[in-house]
Amino acid sequence: MEVLKHVNPALAELVPYEPGRPIEEVAREMGLNPDEIIKLASNESALGPSPKAVRAMKQAISEMHLYPDGGSYELRSRLADLYDVTREQVITGNGSNELLEFIGHCFMRPGKSVVASQYSFVVYKLMAKMFGADFIEVPAKSGLRHDLTAMAKAIRPDTSVVFVTNPNNPTGTLATQREIDRFMAKVPEDVLVVFDEAYAEIAMGGMPDTAKFVKAGRACIVLRTFSKAYGLAGLRIGYGFGPQPLIESLQKPRQPFNTNRLAQIAACAALEDTNFVSKCRNIYRKGKKQVEAYCEEKGLEYVPAHANFILIKTGEGRALSAKLQAKGVIVRPMDGYGLAEWIRVTFGTLEQNQKFCEVLTSLI
Ligand SMILES: *Cc1c(COP(=O)(O)O)cnc(C)c1O
Repeated sequence: MEVLKHVNPALAELVPYEPGRPIEEVAREMGLNPDEIIKLASNESALGPSPKAVRAMKQAISEMHLYPDGGSYELRSRLADLYDVTREQVITGNGSNELLEFIGHCFMRPGKSVVASQYSFVVYKLMAKMFGADFIEVPAKSGLRHDLTAMAKAIRPDTSVVFVTNPNNPTGTLATQREIDRFMAKVPEDVLVVFDEAYAEIAMGGMPDTAKFVKAGRACIVLRTFSKAYGLAGLRIGYGFGPQPLIESLQKPRQPFNTNRLAQIAACAALEDTNFVSKCRNIYRKGKKQVEAYCEEKGLEYVPAHANFILIKTGEGRALSAKLQAKGVIVRPMDGYGLAEWIRVTFGTLEQNQKFCEVLTSLI
């Protein structure tokens, strides 16, 4: 179409993010009953949404003719209390992915560069490209872990942002407090460090304290979400906290009603649902043991999990994912990340994990 000549050239070569496939879509395509399909592809909650959030949403339904509070006053206040910062230091987003976009609006453009690790969340690269910034991908070290020393060294005079995903998606690796402290000692004060901590509440193995850098006034932001531990991925609600002047800048590209009314209400209730989060954490611990033991038994290489998913080396990840899907198990192929031999599998209930193992056994 003629009109496409006006499209922003930064978008022309952009390959859209490939999400995990919805159950309904796979059911339609494969002629399967949706109830027989298990989705272990998007790191969603194994135990559904937080029950406290569900109760609060049911009560709030009749208020949905009203716009949300554009400033998310209640939710930001509660988050500020939780992290011992001020409300002005907290920003909410339509998923923490939206905050990644605000970071792009504020800090990425031609002439700037962005640093992230190889095998980290692909959205950073998409944002850098979309805003015309250079993307510097730092090779991972052994075990597919972030090489934070090399990442600090890769920072150039034109670098505006460096992303640290912890635990990392899709590898499931965890950077230690020591690694992060050393890294922060080397990063220049004028580079924004984004700690993307989508799995913090369920991290296994000692989640490093990064809030201390916020409190020390360092140029950094901690991003978290209600999509994973709280089981509210469908609502799209996430948040970040950092030094106030930084948060004020990030508020500028935000649409007034970016987070919806139901999401704000559910998120406030979910924060109180510590019981639910610990139940989930428990089930992910068991899932880790179960699936890692299975991999050991079958001689499959895997990356030890630190969140609610695991990366397994099966060979031919895309072809295998298609076969698993035909048998009603949706997992995520990893070729888009340069990990064509691997699949990423979210921990579900113990029964779902068991089904995944059985179906995989029948295919390899
Ligand atoms: C899931 C995830 C997010 C956030 O997702 P939202 O649903 O947009 O809050 C962010 N970063 C990583 C690394 C993730 O895995």
